[in-house]
Amino acid sequence: MADGTQRGADEHFDVLIVGAGLSGVGAGWHLQHEAPGRSYVILEGREAIGGTWDLFRYPGIRSDSDMYTLGYSFKPWTEAKAIADGPSILNYVRETAREHGIDRHIRYGHQVTDAAWSSADACWTVTATRADGQTVRLTAGFVFLCGGYYSYEGGYTPDFPGAERFKGQVIHPQKWPEDLDYAGSQVVVIGSGATAVTLVPEMARTAGHVTMLQRSPTYVVSRPAEDALANRLRKVLPAKLAYQLIRWRNVLFGMWFFRLARNKPEAVKRNIIDMVRAQLGPDYDVQTHFTPRYNPWDQRLCLVPDADLFEAIKAGRASVVTDHIETFDETGVRLQSGQHLDADIVVTATGLTLQVMNGLALTVDGAAVDPGQTLSYKGMMYEGVPNLASAFGYTNASWTLKCDLTCEYVCRVLNHMAKTGLRQVTPRNDDPTIERQPWLDFSSGYVQRAMAKFPKQGSKAPWKLHQNYALDLMSLRYAKLEDGVLEFSNPARVAARETAAA
Ligand SMILES: Cc1cc2nc3c(=O)[nH]c(=O)nc-3n(C[C@H](O)[C@H](O)[C@H](O)COP(=O)(O)OP(=O)(O)OC[C@H]3O[C@@H](n4cnc5c(N)ncnc54)[C@H](O)[C@@H]3O)c2cc1C
Repeated sequence: MADGTQRGADEHFDVLIVGAGLSGVGAGWHLQHEAPGRSYVILEGREAIGGTWDLFRYPGIRSDSDMYTLGYSFKPWTEAKAIADGPSILNYVRETAREHGIDRHIRYGHQVTDAAWSSADACWTVTATRADGQTVRLTAGFVFLCGGYYSYEGGYTPDFPGAERFKGQVIHPQKWPEDLDYAGSQVVVIGSGATAVTLVPEMARTAGHVTMLQRSPTYVVSRPAEDALANRLRKVLPAKLAYQLIRWRNVLFGMWFFRLARNKPEAVKRNIIDMVRAQLGPDYDVQTHFTPRYNPWDQRLCLVPDADLFEAIKAGRASVVTDHIETFDETGVRLQSGQHLDADIVVTATGLTLQVMNGLALTVDGAAVDPGQTLSYKGMMYEGVPNLASAFGYTNASWTLKCDLTCEYVCRVLNHMAKTGLRQVTPRNDDPTIERQPWLDFSSGYVQRAMAKFPKQGSKAPWKLHQNYALDLMSLRYAKLEDGVLEFSNPARVAARETAAA
């Protein structure tokens, strides 16, 4: 059954997916292929597909991980660039949805606000607000949260003293004005993360000058935008085989590099800094601007394709200033060192506002779920919350690697329930020795600001959150579903009916 059925006033679906980004579209594909016959709907708050890759429109928007691992396991990435631009990624998501008819399941302009679980009915009642202000209620056997990890309402901008005095434009990359003309302008980009290192070289092509103003440096690594081996392999091997080989090579390299960074931080640090020095030359102050105080992978590494950031710095079109803002004034930014940065435009590449559970208010049998108090099961379901999973990616590898595995796991669970006739699945923790730990162990500000509100991970499997594809592959694709923690059951009413019938 592809469409929902009417239950009284509400429509009912076997699975309700929140969000039509990379994850929601991927979830649709997995459901259709691995748990066929389930009815499903995708509720999308915006009027467009693609999530991140549609929302972000700043100059140069691109991936910072390779498309062989950011692409879906089932759809080879066939473009020449491995580090791809935003529009190409959006096109890839749209194409996937169109090719498999997933787009027919999407309802746009449906912002999901609440989900209430009833154990008596083994069913969620989900409320969404439509673009026209109307409230819609649907019921679903399973809710799959694929709404990403940050708020679409706006990014994070710290309160900068004196900001109201500034006569130029202040722009957050999440809300880029379509018609912004910055040719010849003096631009200051505040930040040192992936967005800043993307924007700076791109804007420097036409701006008068671009200054990247950072409080502290980040590790920046250059890689070729095109993967020469991948492009050669694609010429001689079938697309799917070439894709799988490159995907695995990149997965294994990523895991090896992460391990190395954790085991030998000093050596990896030296290596990265030496590469930057080789790019920028012996006279550049790499110590101040490109030598972080933390170890590699304590925060996300920044990737620059074809050394574009370094090229812009060498050409004098861009520069890096490492300092603290004392105040904005009419003409720019005054720094604690006394230096003044003149600016026509200030871009606040200061991060995202993380959002837990896609902003939904959840209740289970009338009791509110406090996400900050729950334990996450395998990094995707939640202690005491039945029939709900969420798609979340890796911090040290591409998002889609974990998302694909999560979708597969959800399909396994749905198939198991269909086979056994059990309609409720709930992770239960009865092990008092499990310690609660933060969901992510990143030291980045945007992560630290949000962690109290996020579910916790446990100190042991299956509550431990692996940032490791190989371990997740074992745990999600191959491990037994009935592990003594995941409880499959039937609502009391159904169970009583079945006992009576027997
Ligand atoms: C600028 C940028 C670059 C990135 N680059 C990379 C990269 O190179 N590699 C990588 O692995 N990751 C990257 N990421 C992380 C990136 O978000 C993920 O890779 C991926 O796009 C997430 O897809 P998603 O579908 O889970 O979430 P999103 O892309 O955020 O899409 C979520 C969708 O769900 C909708 N939604 C959310 N909540 C609700 C609700 N309550 N009701 C209805 N609809 C809702 C949103 O409107 C949106 O359309 C990047 C993120 C950003 C911001």
